[in-house]
Amino acid sequence: MRYWLIVPAAGVGRRFGEQTPKQYVPLHGRTLLEWSLAPFRADSRCTGIVVALAAGDPHWPAIARKLGNVTVAPGGAERSHSVRNGLAALQGQVAASDWVLVHDAARPCLPAADLNRLVERLDSHPVGGLLAAPAADTLKATGEDLQVVRTVDRSGLWRALTPQMFRYGRLCEALDAALASGRLPTDESQAIEWLGDHPQIVAGSAANLKVTSPEDLLVAAALLQETRA
Ligand code: C5P
Repeated sequence: MRYWLIVPAAGVGRRFGEQTPKQYVPLHGRTLLEWSLAPFRADSRCTGIVVALAAGDPHWPAIARKLGNVTVAPGGAERSHSVRNGLAALQGQVAASDWVLVHDAARPCLPAADLNRLVERLDSHPVGGLLAAPAADTLKATGEDLQVVRTVDRSGLWRALTPQMFRYGRLCEALDAALASGRLPTDESQAIEWLGDHPQIVAGSAANLKVTSPEDLLVAAALLQETRA
């Protein structure tokens, strides 16, 4: 089994008003992006890596020198455009039936065991799927002024994580159809769902968090410390 990896890293999410996008925030001597790439670089099934970057990204060259063999694609206006550009960068090297994994640049704590579970569970699956964690908190729907309207039944609800794993040809088709109709999927699975396919959920660890706030960074630092120990 082999797969390709696409990492959309063209977001400009900044923390504390700093100039550094979150994927380049330093953590234990490396950037978040380097931590996010690490489990794949250590996996012999990962045949090639494409990182989609914002135009003129000043942070990438120093990392590229350290990492070596990584292909760069232009970032797009939204995450789905960046992923589509990453897929385009693989054209000519991949077969339509090849697996592609897509992983967020700001998910630095993916356990190797979760990556293994995803790949092994889905290798013979007709559609593919994604890591996800069960919704653990009670969910409230609100109206105006944050007044609770109702409690949402959380049974059968999952939080979509990454990596997400789909066949190259089908993922291109799904994103092209979505973008052509002016709809922006917030993950790859949603684009595949819009084609009528049913991606498979593979249970993943809540440790595989996406860093979006300063608190997340503290949690990620503690989790990586544990891994390193
Ligand atoms: O902003 P959010 O956390 O949802 O971004 C998820 C991932 O998509 C991040 O890795 C981010 O860098 C990437 N992204 C991108 N191109 C954009 C917006 C976000 O590659 N235009």
